[in-house]
Amino acid sequence: MVKIQPDEISSIIQEQILNYNKEIKIENIGTVFQVGDGIARIYGLNEVMAGELLEFADGTIGIALNLESKNIGAVMMGQGTNVQEGSVVRATGRIAQIPVGKKFLGRIVDALARPIDGQGEIESQETRLLESPAPGIIARKSVFESLETGLVAIDSMIPIGRGQRELIIGDRQTGKTAIAVDTILNQTGKSVYCIYVAIGQKASSIAQVVSTLKKQGAMDYTIIVAATADTPATLQYLAPYTGATLAEYFMYNGQHTLVIYDDLSKQAQAYREMSLLLRRPPGREAFPGDVFYLHSRLLERAAKLNDEMGGGSMTALPIVETQEGDVSAYIPTNVISITDGQIFLSADIFNSGIRPAINVGISVSRVGSAAQSKAMKKVAGQLKLELAQFAELEAFSQFSSDLDQTTQNQLARGQRLRELLKQPQASPLSLSEQVATIYAGTNGYIDNIPVEQVRSYLVGLRQFIAGSEYSKILEKTKILDEQTIDLLKQCLENYSKQFVEFVVS
Ligand code: ATP
Ligand code: MG
Repeated sequence: MVKIQPDEISSIIQEQILNYNKEIKIENIGTVFQVGDGIARIYGLNEVMAGELLEFADGTIGIALNLESKNIGAVMMGQGTNVQEGSVVRATGRIAQIPVGKKFLGRIVDALARPIDGQGEIESQETRLLESPAPGIIARKSVFESLETGLVAIDSMIPIGRGQRELIIGDRQTGKTAIAVDTILNQTGKSVYCIYVAIGQKASSIAQVVSTLKKQGAMDYTIIVAATADTPATLQYLAPYTGATLAEYFMYNGQHTLVIYDDLSKQAQAYREMSLLLRRPPGREAFPGDVFYLHSRLLERAAKLNDEMGGGSMTALPIVETQEGDVSAYIPTNVISITDGQIFLSADIFNSGIRPAINVGISVSRVGSAAQSKAMKKVAGQLKLELAQFAELEAFSQFSSDLDQTTQNQLARGQRLRELLKQPQASPLSLSEQVATIYAGTNGYIDNIPVEQVRSYLVGLRQFIAGSEYSKILEKTKILDEQTIDLLKQCLENYSKQFVEFVVS
């Protein structure tokens, strides 16, 4: 018979006492007492955090948003049609997070970063919190590199810097999405990863964007986050944060990223719907009081990090839709005040045939000029000045019939410069092409060309300078010094002769 020694028993008992707490797993469980419209009110979840992920009995995921004294209000990610009164809800102890990584490039995901393009799972080892704090002041550096859109009107007069937040604002169908998509196309070979977040749009519009990007090979460095108009409001509300989170992965790894929120008005509407269902008190335009915070905490995440942090950047191009050009509505004023400038698109300009329909007079960029390349800075000043003078003259010359020669010349120049800013969709221009275009305009090379031929002149000019000594040097140095100007002048003179001969013959 084996004898048990008392000290052996005591050590076993001691161990059991030590592990006693480990074996009891306290699960935080509650019960749904009201459910509908994607919102559930839950009783009994006493130790839940704001923003914590909840799991409903049928597997639906929810997020705890309203923490009240006796109950909590949660939004459900999905229809949640099987969740009923009395269903059990489990708190997961995790704040909402999504997988991130390089494997997401080229893919289309939903607001919870789940693939929806039918190309299988996305492998990922890393996750990030959906709502993480924006980098502080010390972690940042001032914006100094340019993020070229490839659109002459923007790169010359409303330049954008890496790490900047520039709002694209305008009525419906004024070319807002077109500008954003062109900017993505222009990042080819520039090592800028792009994230396009589509909120509350038709699936067909998103498909169009995807096909444009695919055609030009831009999907290789782009992620699409789609929360279409038919998805629950909760997902439309979350999609921009998912976009920002996917972008943060690149920024904190020392890379450059561009994120587009198309558009934040729809996100605000989705948030309003959610908030009213959660019975939060409505304020101005029936939006809840914290709708400003909704956008500010999102856009603050865009940054240019300092060198210790790896020097990465996140540039944000939020889009906001206005009604009848009214920028004084609640959401437009909010987002204007959060961003570092805005590109204002106007329906009148669009309808008069000037596209992109940018209203240069009221569009601004408060940061980008610090990041503009030297060559662009050199030619852009003159362009801006002459266009401003033209705008004034044009308004005033409508009332007088006989104008002196100088005024006539200025008007003629202005008309041609305006023509020079027109640009078809999906055809971004390189720096050397833009500089040559503007230089030709402000130095009289197109003064004698009929207005309706200016565009074909410029198209030919771009082909003419392709691969030239001028282009090579400018693209490398990004400086327009005496020597480069001479090379450019030579190109312009030779080409102009050729163009005139061609037109005459
Ligand atoms: P929505 O309010 O529906 O989102 P939007 O403001 O995003 O519209 P887009 O969809 O980009 O506008 O463009 C509206 C229309 O204008 C499209 O048919 C597009 O092809 C056309 N368009 C946009 N930019 C240009 C351009 N530079 N040149 C010619 N057509 C353009
Ligand atoms: Mg659009």
